[in-house]
Amino acid sequence: MIFGAHMPTRGGVPSALREGRRIGCGVVQLFAKNNLQWTGQPYSLEVIADFAQESAAGAFTAVFAHAGFLINLGAPGGPNRQKSIDSLIHELQLAESLSLPFIVLHPGSHLGKGETRGLRAIAEGLDMVIASTPDSSVRIALENTAGQGSSLGGQLIHLAELFEQVKTPERLGLCLDTAHFFEAGHPVHTPEGWNKIMDETDRTIGLENVLAFHLNDSKTPFGSKVDRHAGIGEGQLGLEAFRHMVNDPRFEHTPGCLETPKSADLHEDMENMARLRSLLR
Ligand SMILES: [Zn+2]
Ligand SMILES: [Zn+2]
Repeated sequence: MIFGAHMPTRGGVPSALREGRRIGCGVVQLFAKNNLQWTGQPYSLEVIADFAQESAAGAFTAVFAHAGFLINLGAPGGPNRQKSIDSLIHELQLAESLSLPFIVLHPGSHLGKGETRGLRAIAEGLDMVIASTPDSSVRIALENTAGQGSSLGGQLIHLAELFEQVKTPERLGLCLDTAHFFEAGHPVHTPEGWNKIMDETDRTIGLENVLAFHLNDSKTPFGSKVDRHAGIGEGQLGLEAFRHMVNDPRFEHTPGCLETPKSADLHEDMENMARLRSLLR
């Protein structure tokens, strides 16, 4: 696995890459816009050029985005449905302008309408977004979730169902979060549990669709369905749990991105990456 972390964009998107290079990231995840707003501004040509330059300077294996947190494609109706679709289209356009290969998306919450209707709503929403960006090369990497509340994606079958229902599944991908697996009740902290869920992923969706991992420890216990990230080895998964994950030969070149608590100087990210590297055989 190639390690890196989610980098803050306080100083703009190019500064996220500068910071990533400074602390030794092999991969960088960032928000293409404010993650708590529906829309942002298109990038100026200057920012796009600066970003491209920083990207080359950092020689990253991958730079990708995480979609904003307001987007919910899982609720069939409601005032936020169209806003969610428009916002995701906007995110794809921003990602395209930065030449990012994919954007990570939480599938969505059904808000009481049930799993079947929720998954149908997500697939239809994805179809609309993809139909509105026909020439885009940006893929949408669906992330597994902790299964909190009515959120979908806690079970692999949800993600497999979306690959099945979406008209152009080649525009989709997967981003697998270790803490979310654990919190949703998948025992990825044991080699057997890890292999079982990876084999299931391969059978139902195909491991070639795994575009990235999120490497997070969990503050909450196994099966809690509550999503709280902890530093590597500082949570309920524990350091040893990451040994079989980061050494899985199937993912030698796959991005493994931290989304763990950090302060402004990012020293925690450096420590967490050092811990992960110490596990590599
Ligand atoms: Zn996420
Ligand atoms: Zn994540």
